[in-house]
Amino acid sequence: MTAVSEKPVRPPRAEPREVVELKQIKATQPELASAVDMQVALVDMQRRVQGRVPLPWIQPDPAWVATQQQAGRPLVRFQDIPLEWSDFHLTFRQTADILLRHEALERADYDAIVAMGRDGDALQPIVSQWYASSSGGDATGSPRTPPGAPASLEQVLVLALRPFLSRCAEALAQRVDLSSWSHGHCPFCGWEPDFAVITPNAERRLICGRCSGQWAFPALACPFCTNDDRALITSFATRDGRYRVSACDVCKRYLKAYDGRNATRPVMVSVDSIATLPLDAAAIQRGYQ
Ligand SMILES: [Zn+2]
Ligand SMILES: [Zn+2]
Repeated sequence: MTAVSEKPVRPPRAEPREVVELKQIKATQPELASAVDMQVALVDMQRRVQGRVPLPWIQPDPAWVATQQQAGRPLVRFQDIPLEWSDFHLTFRQTADILLRHEALERADYDAIVAMGRDGDALQPIVSQWYASSSGGDATGSPRTPPGAPASLEQVLVLALRPFLSRCAEALAQRVDLSSWSHGHCPFCGWEPDFAVITPNAERRLICGRCSGQWAFPALACPFCTNDDRALITSFATRDGRYRVSACDVCKRYLKAYDGRNATRPVMVSVDSIATLPLDAAAIQRGYQ
């Protein structure tokens, strides 16, 4: 019998699976260490924010959903996003801090971006204009960000909005039938896919680079330019078969995928996008962007 006076030892708080997996990558591929460190910081920050964001109550009218889908328009309108502005300001600032600290943002760009966030009322119209002009499902032609703003502003906006916007995709995915959606852009927010997963029954699901929503898309078509001539789609895999690249010989863009057919865990974009950085290099070397 052990002594009864001993205080129960609380086990250390378990790290999220994504962080465990990311650290594993760092151990086996030290050349990816700096990318891993930045991703761990982003994952950690986004999890904390997401924990504070309520699951929005979005109950769209089925007729309106059908109209939007037929027109190729996404389902989340800006006003649907559960944005708490003081929390968004904080998230925006912390995102910029992480990117600067890991040298993913130039100091001058950082200063300009942080200044936008500091001016209490400036950020709100910038974010809503950016969302409106990038969620139409087609290029509206209007500039997405204010004139003179650094190009890297978009990257900060994508990352800072994600914890809020992903809650909308989560809520809608349970309520809306996406089976008729055949577009390459996201049915929830209208952004582009930046990763994909191949399901055990060999279907490809695209994953939005902004809201993390998923939707089915033919495995042998290009989501960026709708090329579906399979002779003009080049595909290659990592040696272990875990990841694939599908590249379009018409528009020269490519998309990486996690092959879930023999996988031991589900796709984790924050992990898999880092694990596949060497594949990006391989795709770029072959002339894809
Ligand atoms: Zn999306
Ligand atoms: Zn294409």
